[in-house]
Amino acid sequence: MRPVRPPPRQALFSHSKQRLVFLFFLWYTYHKMTEPQGPQAARLRQHKFELLHRFPIPPDLLPGSLSFSHLRCGKPTCHCAKAKDPGHEVWSLTFMVAGHKHVQHIPKPWVEQVRKRVEAGRAFQDAVREVLAANAQLLVLARRQQKSPKKRRS
Ligand SMILES: [Zn+2]
Repeated sequence: MRPVRPPPRQALFSHSKQRLVFLFFLWYTYHKMTEPQGPQAARLRQHKFELLHRFPIPPDLLPGSLSFSHLRCGKPTCHCAKAKDPGHEVWSLTFMVAGHKHVQHIPKPWVEQVRKRVEAGRAFQDAVREVLAANAQLLVLARRQQKSPKKRRS
């Protein structure tokens, strides 16, 4: 068996190693630029990851809002034709798709399920907005800390 020898010295300065060092330098610079330090940044990051953890993309979310109104169907023999009758309860889901407003009638037996899906959709959108807002604030902090590195610990 041949004794294990350390690699020849010039291997440390091979082309691929130089590239690795350069890539690490790029990553480090990028990381420093995008990862602000300090308690405020830590708080924002923690809040963000809590939200991300709580909201893995749920598959059944619905957009828009659920509302109900009373309608008269127009049949003269229907109970809703009477003046004191409140009319038929009509539920509808109003939502936007690709910039166009849609109103979908929701049958009564669907209402509870659709309501839950709409509420979950709204909670999800709120969480996404909060994560994006936290990212923007972290970016502002990173920029501020880059401008004045001496104030980092304040
Ligand atoms: Zn009617």
